Amino acid sequence: MALKLGLVGIGKIARDQHIPAIAADPRFELVATASRNASVDGVAAFTSVEALLAAVPELDAISICTPPQAHFQAALAALRAGKHVMLEKPPAATTREIALLQEEAARHGRTLFQTWHSRFAPAVSAARDWVHKSTLTGGAIRWKEDVHKWHPGQQWLWDAGGLGVFDPGINALSILTEVLSAEACVHKAALDFPENQQAPVAARLDLRTEAGVSIDADFDFRHKGEEAWDIELFSTTARARLSRGGSALEIDGRLVVDRPAMEGEYPGLYARFAELCAAGRSEVDWRPFQLVADAFLIGERRTVAAHQV
Ligand code: NAP
Repeated sequence: MALKLGLVGIGKIARDQHIPAIAADPRFELVATASRNASVDGVAAFTSVEALLAAVPELDAISICTPPQAHFQAALAALRAGKHVMLEKPPAATTREIALLQEEAARHGRTLFQTWHSRFAPAVSAARDWVHKSTLTGGAIRWKEDVHKWHPGQQWLWDAGGLGVFDPGINALSILTEVLSAEACVHKAALDFPENQQAPVAARLDLRTEAGVSIDADFDFRHKGEEAWDIELFSTTARARLSRGGSALEIDGRLVVDRPAMEGEYPGLYARFAELCAAGRSEVDWRPFQLVADAFLIGERRTVAAHQV
């Protein structure tokens, strides 16, 4: 029997990716939505998670697609009502919130799937295999996009807790933490805050692995033209380049994987969610979020020109 699912926060990613992925997966049935201003044709609509949980007690699970500032209350209410929960990235507004949600899921014997969609990109597992066979000597992340193209009108990105350029940048960190065979920490960081906003428009991170290998990350929302979503990793014998957000992989200039951007990511997420619910397990890995939090903790701050959303 299909899991009866509620979808929370009907915005861009819900419409672009979640709704088509749910419709294509027979293990889920979308029975209701919770969104203050939006709904999905033919699906029961509520304006809050609490109203949805009260009105549809037969619900098995909810999938939360709101910005991170709204995750905690929604997820907590759903877990306490005995529902499985799938969370969009970034996982929450604070590190403590995600830790508490993990504990709450365990207490209620429910699944918490805290997702990183970029880890499901087609070339990531091949990159991981390459890294695990290599001796890494360095790396460089370039994650640059035009915020006006990808996030038009999204003021929540710029409010406190919205993460600014780390909202896409955390995707790179989710791939990095997935492929590395050693843990990485933020050694140094520099963050550029527009004078009229609460979140950075650009950031540079010097990450170091346990073995002392340095990986530079350069995140920028002021980029014009074609986006750069690239991770380069260097070993003692070769150089790997993951590009287009993890859709393509080159080793020493030879294309090993080359697939359309985002292909299979959300179907992969829902397949994993179904497996986790069936197995009664949770999956939570907040290391990418810790790296971002640490960049805020130790990063040098620079005030830059105002940014108009
Ligand atoms: P969005 O278009 O702004 O949609 C989010 C929806 O959440 C809003 O339309 C809003 O619907 C609801 N919401 C609830 N509380 C909110 C609050 N405090 N502030 C603003 N909206 C609130 O954003 P999105 O692009 O779909 O991104 C949502 C999440 O998905 C983010 O965490 C993002 O990192 C992640 N994501 C986005 C993309 C992408 O390409 N856009 C890709 C992957 C992941 P109501 O007003 O109807 O409540």
